[in-house]
Amino acid sequence: MKQNDVLIVGGGAIGSSIAYHLASDKDFAGRVVVIERDPSYARASSALSASSIRQQFSTPLNIHLSRHGIEFLRTAPKLLDVDLALKEMGYLFLASAAGQAVLRANNAVQRGEGCAVELVEPAELARRFPWIATDGLVLASFGAANEGWFDGPSLMQAFRRAAQDRGAVYVADEVVGLGRRHVDLRTGGRMAAGTIVVAAGAWSGEIAAMAGIALPVEPRRRSVFVFDVRRPPGPTPLTIDPSGVWFRPEGRFYIGGTTPAAGNDPAGAPLEVQHREWDEMVWPVLAARVPAFEAAKVVNSWAGYYDYNTFDQNGIVGRCPAAESVIFATGFSGHGIQQSPAVGRAVAELIAHGEYRTLDLRPFGYERISAGRPIRELNVV
Ligand SMILES: Cc1cc2nc3c(=O)[nH]c(=O)nc-3n(C[C@H](O)[C@H](O)[C@H](O)COP(=O)(O)OP(=O)(O)OC[C@H]3O[C@@H](n4cnc5c(N)ncnc54)[C@H](O)[C@@H]3O)c2cc1C
Repeated sequence: MKQNDVLIVGGGAIGSSIAYHLASDKDFAGRVVVIERDPSYARASSALSASSIRQQFSTPLNIHLSRHGIEFLRTAPKLLDVDLALKEMGYLFLASAAGQAVLRANNAVQRGEGCAVELVEPAELARRFPWIATDGLVLASFGAANEGWFDGPSLMQAFRRAAQDRGAVYVADEVVGLGRRHVDLRTGGRMAAGTIVVAAGAWSGEIAAMAGIALPVEPRRRSVFVFDVRRPPGPTPLTIDPSGVWFRPEGRFYIGGTTPAAGNDPAGAPLEVQHREWDEMVWPVLAARVPAFEAAKVVNSWAGYYDYNTFDQNGIVGRCPAAESVIFATGFSGHGIQQSPAVGRAVAELIAHGEYRTLDLRPFGYERISAGRPIRELNVV
């Protein structure tokens, strides 16, 4: 059995960012192997996300992760030789009376962390975004800087390419068994390593279970609808209605979706677009909130999995207390692609230097799960 220093299970944005940051670290001279079962990434979340980035979280650590994310995205063309088509158009969270207190509390956290976010009253909202019908709205929060969207699949591929250029090796195979210092592969082999990183996105819970470790991460299906409107209303931030329906421009079209109703969000549902969600949940809200969207026509759609952390909807990053050679980097629940630069950097630091050197991600460690201490993220879109 060949000895590797680091084996990364999953070569999506998170696994490839870890590989890139490790392979770029001058103090790390080990061999890095990434095991990715599907080099076409047909079902990988990093290829199927809405690829958006925001500062408007309720958890300060998420703000810090995404702040590094936006800085990284701006320098990615130089660092990774890739055009990510970054559009910094902002996020606009809308609140009804029921959501007002949470919006204000989140805004206070964000301002405390130095985010350029402002609370906007309905009259001002109507003046600045005249395409919004303000019925039922009492407040909005607009992020005027450091928020927008980009080409997520290209970011993932750029991390992969750059990791390979720096010596990381990608193996096309499936992990079917996990031990403390080895993995078993579908093709029959076994690979050993000093450190094993589980970065298998929505399938990470399944992989941890192979070693008897309970990891509360499961695949939750989300549908995305690409729609055309006859008359685009004008510059539009990524907008989140109080109902949970969200939308943003995508080229000359728009994309949008929602969170399935509680009780209709099972783990591992087949990756089939839920057209009923458009008919019954998304379109009615869009047509009421943006009159120009009444004539919206779906021109394309897809479904992907959130790597959903059922415990508190935040990333689980760091060593597994029951098996110190195993590191988790997963569970980002709808905000993983924007956090992939910071998470990759942090996990590389942990492996290469034995500690976090830039952002301290210890609060997101597995220990909070065993201790029953959730850090619940309230702004999960
Ligand atoms: C519809 C949708 C919208 C989203 N919108 C956003 C957004 O706007 N902003 C944001 O930041 N995030 C968003 N996300 C979340 C984001 O896409 C994920 O958090 C992120 O891509 C996770 O990256 P990952 O590398 O961990 O997972 P993945 O990209 O899924 O990569 C995991 C890889 O592991 C591989 N794998 C799994 N099991 C095995 C095995 N046994 N052996 C070998 N390989 C294996 C898979 O093939 C896969 O390629 C969205 C997700 C979806 C589905």
